[in-house]
Amino acid sequence: MKEEEIRKRDVFNKYLELVQKDVENYFDFSSFKDGDCPACGNSEHVPEFEKIGFRYVSCKKCETLYVNPRPAFETLNIFYSESPSTSFWVNEFFKPVADVRREKMFRPRAEFISKFFNVNKEIVVGDIGAGFGLFLEELRNIVPENRFIAIEPSTEMADICRAKGLDVECACLEDMKGMEGKFDILTTFELLEHLFEPAAFLKKAYSFLKPGGYLFLTTLNGKGFDILSLWEKSKSIGPPHHLNFFNLESVRTLMENIGFEIVEASTPGKLDWDIVEGMIRNEGVNLGRFWDMVSFKVTENCKRELQDWIVNNNLSSHMRVVAKRPIGDI
Ligand SMILES: [Zn+2]
Repeated sequence: MKEEEIRKRDVFNKYLELVQKDVENYFDFSSFKDGDCPACGNSEHVPEFEKIGFRYVSCKKCETLYVNPRPAFETLNIFYSESPSTSFWVNEFFKPVADVRREKMFRPRAEFISKFFNVNKEIVVGDIGAGFGLFLEELRNIVPENRFIAIEPSTEMADICRAKGLDVECACLEDMKGMEGKFDILTTFELLEHLFEPAAFLKKAYSFLKPGGYLFLTTLNGKGFDILSLWEKSKSIGPPHHLNFFNLESVRTLMENIGFEIVEASTPGKLDWDIVEGMIRNEGVNLGRFWDMVSFKVTENCKRELQDWIVNNNLSSHMRVVAKRPIGDI
């Protein structure tokens, strides 16, 4: 998989320009509030850099990179529900690459999950932030006998999920009630990095699982190859969307403090090198002579081996966690 297949460079750059305009219109920086580390709760942090007015800091204890001070939950909700950049993201950015994303991202996830959990009986699966419902559709194709619930706050996307025959809860997980102990599996892809209060979100997800149920999530790893290499130039570090960059250790701390048992935590990313190479070749980023040489001179096989090395040593910026609500916990 290549970055250009799932994230067209020129469209993405246009989107980032729109985001910058929206930030001026939707956010009042004087109203932002200081907060503690979203992973371990420590208040001590080191300033790192500022991006379109948002300040990023690193937790002194667990090295989670996060926005501090932070905009209010309500401000973020308004931004996500009505800003022109969000509409652009849905219609101009996501829709043209939806088929490729289905094939390269959502289908492999559905295959992985159906095998990992040996899904062969009637269970309840919920996808939090279901978007267009692509993941649940793919999972339903493999194991149609289960019940699938799309949890999606955008009314436009919730309607799309409904039209696909999925059960839909049109709400933020944090606002939902009455689903305690209902789900065998909850999934959430690339959402944790967006959240105002990840711990509250995870507590809610925990309460919605049956004892013995699983939460499967993917998020960005702040200590991964492309993020640490590019740092403030990384387009993954994009406010106001991406507020939290956990790492393998800090996401474990956060989830274990809530009561989860970590079944697997790894970084199975595919794009680290491709993203870094794209920035060196197309956007003039200078990471030194060695990485210039790798970008321009070495074979495709050499680059593939580099990406394999990144993944095999859990150094990718794309992180996956499978966590369980312990059986004895009722
Ligand atoms: Zn911390």
